[in-house]
Amino acid sequence: MRDVAPASQLDCRRRCLRTPWSATVVYGGGVTTSSPVLDAFAAGAADADSDRGEAIHQEAESSAVTLEERELLVRVLTAASRAASKMAKEKPLRSSLISDGDEAFIEANSFKPVSEPEVQRALASFGELMNLAAGELGPLPGGGVGQVKSPTGPTPTVESIEPTPAMRDELAGRAGRVVGMAGALGATDAVAEVRALNDGCPVCGAPVTPAGGRHQQIAPGTEPAVETGQCEVGHKLDRPEGTVGQWRAVDDDELWGQDPFSSTIG
Ligand SMILES: [Zn+2]
Repeated sequence: MRDVAPASQLDCRRRCLRTPWSATVVYGGGVTTSSPVLDAFAAGAADADSDRGEAIHQEAESSAVTLEERELLVRVLTAASRAASKMAKEKPLRSSLISDGDEAFIEANSFKPVSEPEVQRALASFGELMNLAAGELGPLPGGGVGQVKSPTGPTPTVESIEPTPAMRDELAGRAGRVVGMAGALGATDAVAEVRALNDGCPVCGAPVTPAGGRHQQIAPGTEPAVETGQCEVGHKLDRPEGTVGQWRAVDDDELWGQDPFSSTIG
């Protein structure tokens, strides 16, 4: 429990909550703007994990996110799920993104009861977050639970919904607080989760650890060298050497079979 935070942390917390800092987003066309979803997520995380608040700020400030707000929202909700799994000590971690309200609804009810009061509170916050997301994330109102679909027929026409910008920020702030609570409990690394919004696994959004491997150029001069990595969920990835935010899923076993590191992590 942190009943009293040192003055420096209080300053940091005020800055987290009141000062919109300049996280940079680079869209495909090179247009740069701020990311309210990233800001809200980082502010929530820094508020709940005040010991690392300054580091969380710095990571968010240095991010040059290439994803649009809706995709970032999916990433932060999935980050909250990973954090909840770690706090509850439940494996495996979620291996795909929470992309719609139905999946959020399932997540809301996915954890067994735990005994530790701090974990109970954090998981309750996660459950509230997922229930809110189930109703707001779309594409169907209320997560579409109970919607009867024919397995072979066309999907019935239902008016789809999208979260408003204000709701995206609300969900992102709550997701950040769940991740920050997990960070404060030592269950996850909130800074790594902020970093993963820009440089995470494209399949599940999890933080990636470079594996130290390097593919040979298939045809020298025609293919850029790539480095290999693995996300904490276990997806094998590679990216052009020296790049950020460009991890790609590797599903070619033969390619990885050529890598000396694949035998130790695959
Ligand atoms: Zn992954």
